[in-house]
Amino acid sequence: MIRKPTCKEVHRLVSEGLDRNLTLTERSRVQMHLLVCRACDRFNGQMGLLRKAMQRFEVPLDADDRKD
Ligand SMILES: [Zn+2]
Repeated sequence: MIRKPTCKEVHRLVSEGLDRNLTLTERSRVQMHLLVCRACDRFNGQMGLLRKAMQRFEVPLDADDRKD
């Protein structure tokens, strides 16, 4: 049986989700928690907006590698 994730854990996973792809297990744990926790649902929505904003201003990674 899957342990119920805490708000703290969900916040951590949502934040980490900005930097890496969460595993299927992690994602489903977050989704499960968001269904019952309004606070984390809001937090996740805010992080989603942040992620969109960051993607918009993203600089190409190889920009610094061409200095010759
Ligand atoms: Zn929560």
